[in-house]
Amino acid sequence: KLILFWHRRDLRISDNMGLAAARKQSSKIVGLFCLDPNILNSNEVAPARVTYMLGCLQELKESYSKIGSQLLIVRGEPIEAIPQLAVALQVTGVFWHKDGEPYARERDGKVEQELLKQGIAVTNYWDQLLHPPEDILTQSGKPYTVYTPFWKNWSQKPKLEVAEKLDRIQGLTAEEIKIAQETGVVSLPTGKDLGYYWDGELILTPGETAAREQLEEFSERAIAQYQEQRNFPAVEGTSLLSPALRFGVIGIRTVWQATLEATKNSYSEEVRANIETWQKELAWREFYQHALYHFPQLTVEPYRQQFKDFPWDNNPEHFQAWCEGKTGYPMVDAAMRQLNETGWMHNRCRMIVASFLTKDLIINWQWGEQYFMQKLCDGDLASNNGGWQWSASCGMDPKPLRIFNPASQAKKFDPEGEYIRQWLPELSSIDTEYLVRGKIPDDERERCDYPQPIVDHNLRQREFKRRYKELSP
Ligand code: FAD
Repeated sequence: KLILFWHRRDLRISDNMGLAAARKQSSKIVGLFCLDPNILNSNEVAPARVTYMLGCLQELKESYSKIGSQLLIVRGEPIEAIPQLAVALQVTGVFWHKDGEPYARERDGKVEQELLKQGIAVTNYWDQLLHPPEDILTQSGKPYTVYTPFWKNWSQKPKLEVAEKLDRIQGLTAEEIKIAQETGVVSLPTGKDLGYYWDGELILTPGETAAREQLEEFSERAIAQYQEQRNFPAVEGTSLLSPALRFGVIGIRTVWQATLEATKNSYSEEVRANIETWQKELAWREFYQHALYHFPQLTVEPYRQQFKDFPWDNNPEHFQAWCEGKTGYPMVDAAMRQLNETGWMHNRCRMIVASFLTKDLIINWQWGEQYFMQKLCDGDLASNNGGWQWSASCGMDPKPLRIFNPASQAKKFDPEGEYIRQWLPELSSIDTEYLVRGKIPDDERERCDYPQPIVDHNLRQREFKRRYKELSP
């Protein structure tokens, strides 16, 4: 009995629900990854994300080889490539994990139908979430649209244990490998082969080993001070696990287990509160995935319908300046340069630049959402869409309007200007007081070849509020 395990957002062997279940049915399991042109040719792909993913696939391949099997790579439409391979190899079943994104649901439905037509069984599980979307509903059975009651419900529900470890399994025979190669199995391409060249440094080394080490280090150290440290972009106060969670390089049950152990080992109420704050971030990730599952239209429209016809300015020159980190607002520009150079941006800064794009430049949040997807190594449809809609005040946020002042944010969260200087070295000689207040004198801007502010924050936020007031209630 040969089982194919189709990996998607679960690029790991350990704590893998579907693989553990497949092992109960057979000892002959082969991994599969499909390089899907619908994803790779879309205009929402980041070279940094592709690079991270390929690195993870490389380690996954090695992991399969260590336990006696193989990871097969195919390139093409999943609806054709997967059934073709499954038929050629005469597999008895194909396993995969559920994914709530609209495209994934449609794709999976079609692949399932095709396999069933060929008499091949399909089994799938939820694995990337601690609780599937159908499990966390209000008392009247509706999806939550506000985070706090969601958290109350979600945090009280018992969580699954880490999935059983996979021991040795069997892979394909030499004969079967030949058949696989004749049916479209290719070797793992490079980013360049796929048209996505990236030579920047990633914030997290790809693969399961690095993700596990990062989790260990974080839960032994920074998690204890997370509540305060997470707000300072110059400090490494967050876990940096977002790309690993995006691609399921680490199991979510393993991550949860680490928080429980850290709580058990903590010596004070205060430390436990810090750990809980981090658990709440994991719940934000699930909140947004549930939201997208229940409201797939969020990918194309705002949650608050009044925003559908918001009179955005959408000035392309302003957008370009924002993308390049040349708005003349140091905190905004530093953050955009961090994104462009590393494929990652600190959460505080994501909120600042998103507020600036939507409230100061009055540019449609969807432009920013797309730019982030083209750059982020952790780019994830649900979290990114949720983060952008929240920042634009058109999402699931009970507070109607939030406007961030880039200068006060810098003063509060980068008081010594360390972050700004790191990403805007041209401003390294500028006095901290000027830097964090954003009031750099004109002659200094000229000397450093740093632009004048492209808009006036006070005028623009008033203008945004004026337009906002005119929206129907
Ligand atoms: P930590 O602070 O260590 O948090 C742990 C994990 O919790 C993260 O890895 C992430 O999986 C999850 N998490 C934390 N905060 C959030 C949040 N606000 N929403 C959802 N999940 C969260 N996160 C992404 O993973 N992908 C995105 O594409 C993405 N786009 C965003 C866009 C905007 C405009 C905003 C405001 C936020 C976005 N976020 C996104 C959320 C957040 O900024 C990142 O998850 C976080 O910065 C990742 O760093 P970390 O792993 O060190 O996080």
